[in-house]
Amino acid sequence: MFDTTVPLADLGQRARDLVVQPLAEGLWRVHLGFVNAYAIALEDGIALVDTGLVIHVPWILHNIRPLGPLRHIVLSHAHVDHAGGARQLSQSTGAEVWAGRADAAMLEQGRCLRGHEPSPSVKGYAFTYAFARVHGPRMRALPRVHPLDHGDALPFAPQVKVIGLPGHCLGQIGLRWTTPDGLRALFIGDALGRFLEFGHPILYEDRAAGIETIRQVAAYAAEADMVLPGHGRPDQNAAENIARFSDRLTA
Ligand SMILES: [Zn+2]
Repeated sequence: MFDTTVPLADLGQRARDLVVQPLAEGLWRVHLGFVNAYAIALEDGIALVDTGLVIHVPWILHNIRPLGPLRHIVLSHAHVDHAGGARQLSQSTGAEVWAGRADAAMLEQGRCLRGHEPSPSVKGYAFTYAFARVHGPRMRALPRVHPLDHGDALPFAPQVKVIGLPGHCLGQIGLRWTTPDGLRALFIGDALGRFLEFGHPILYEDRAAGIETIRQVAAYAAEADMVLPGHGRPDQNAAENIARFSDRLTA
């Protein structure tokens, strides 16, 4: 039950704490329900990794305000549940938008889905069907998306490294960053799906590439302290789980 002795202002703060969850120094999860965004502290504000849907934009703007001005948006991939809010967020804050090269081009054309195959599970098949039906392949074009490639450092945060994670989307990227207090964070977008345990993403544009990417992620995760997925909880004990799934794919 609600504690009626808590002043209203505190309730507002408590609600905000549920949305913007500190993970390490300069790193927050922005909880958007079924999908995540993450905030990274910069010298002059913050960068947001993914944006949720366009309906999440007011929610994000309200909740990230205490973290500082939004300077940059990095999109893990072009799907509408990760990139849908980018246009409005960028328009209302002036933030620059970045994405993996193949998906950057697509976003500038207003496309968010290429040809795809469902992942090899009934759940994946159902989600793929619903996703393609509900969202379709188009959304409003982003005027300018700066391309990023595997091996790049983020130009505005050179300590954050870009890794290519093709498969779920051809231009999907992840990030590797050691936070100022020493947490080795690994952002994986939708390279793996998360339903209790890590497994296949809900769909693949290129399944062979996606499975090779899962092997790569297993190796990165072995050297990380926390895995930050596009959906579901950030996980400090993910390495073993991902390695087990990756081994099953090769067996
Ligand atoms: Zn996706």
